[in-house]
Amino acid sequence: MIKFLDLKEINNQYADELKQAVSEVIDSGWYLLGERVARFESNLALYTGVGNAVGVGNGLDALRLIFRAYIEAGVMRQGDEVIVPANTYIASVLAITHSGLRPVLVEPDISTYNLDLSLVERHITERTRGIMVVHLYGRACWSEELEAIAEKYNLRIVEDNAQAIGAKWRGKRTGSFGDAAALSFYPGKNLGALGDAGAVTTNDSELADLVRALGNYGSREKYINEFKGFNSRLDEIQAACLDVKLRHLDAENRKRREVAGYYCEHITNPDIILPRFGKPADIIEDEGNVWHLFVIRASDRENLQTCLETRGIQTLIHYPVPPHQQQAYAEMRGLSLGVTEKIHREVLSLPLSPVLSEQDVEYVVAAINNYTRRHGCVQAE
Ligand SMILES: *Cc1c(COP(=O)(O)O)cnc(C)c1O
Repeated sequence: MIKFLDLKEINNQYADELKQAVSEVIDSGWYLLGERVARFESNLALYTGVGNAVGVGNGLDALRLIFRAYIEAGVMRQGDEVIVPANTYIASVLAITHSGLRPVLVEPDISTYNLDLSLVERHITERTRGIMVVHLYGRACWSEELEAIAEKYNLRIVEDNAQAIGAKWRGKRTGSFGDAAALSFYPGKNLGALGDAGAVTTNDSELADLVRALGNYGSREKYINEFKGFNSRLDEIQAACLDVKLRHLDAENRKRREVAGYYCEHITNPDIILPRFGKPADIIEDEGNVWHLFVIRASDRENLQTCLETRGIQTLIHYPVPPHQQQAYAEMRGLSLGVTEKIHREVLSLPLSPVLSEQDVEYVVAAINNYTRRHGCVQAE
């Protein structure tokens, strides 16, 4: 059985270091807002290339805290609009509506699955205050034109960087492009904690202070509450583990790129649409994508998935239902978003992780190349 993602195996690589880190926290007698969180925040800020990193409870909270901070600062008001890609994970949209803001769903580019930046400007209204870019599946989403649009209309750009830690655009890392960015350290993310965790990265130190206060009951000084805040803090155990894994992140992302490169070069099945990239040789070198997910498209996705399952290959769908078709957002049911809906009907994520063996990758490639829409699952050998 080839697992989609073997978390046990991933963390097993660092078992000794992780156990040591956890054991030090237990012995320290200090479990929240301590020196390990401070150290990780400073290493994360350095890694990302920003002035501030603030540890929080999870990725959704990181996004919510950014919007709440903008509301507290008077930059955004209830009912203001935020542009967001329609094919994102639902957390991006939840963060907007939880904050009393209105999501304006914009279609992605079918070849990158990221926000179609050429559509952004026409969705801007008098109420627009922000643009959320999501570096989906690990691919950095940015352009100079986007920066110019934000400047022209005085909009804040919030990056949902949950899937792309480490990716670069013109030498800068995701999480440092916009006004503020949210990270998730959900265990399955490229930098995964051993539980829930997240962070905000930003060059805006006032915003960072606000986020820190809002995540700690709206308080900067114990028992003095300036804001109606949340409780969303990174704990010492997760921070200590994340610090260990951050040191290995670039090597892991490199391995992910190698697997992705191999897939791109060797999957030759004409019924399969591969993620876009240049020459195979460039794929391994290119840091614009840290390959959180390797997402292919097939018009008969369900059959393909079943075929791979019978071959012992686990695949997942990211995501089967777009936010505007979820019951939770019944008010958006009327929206018609053709590109997004097509993506959700056709995508399939192949096994991809830094611990996938060469034989496993070859086996997946052979199984896919032997599949045909007409004949279904053909015997591999
Ligand atoms: C994982 C994820 C989140 C939410 O992160 P959590 O830590 O699970 O709350 C937000 N946005 C995207 C794009 C994600 O993939």
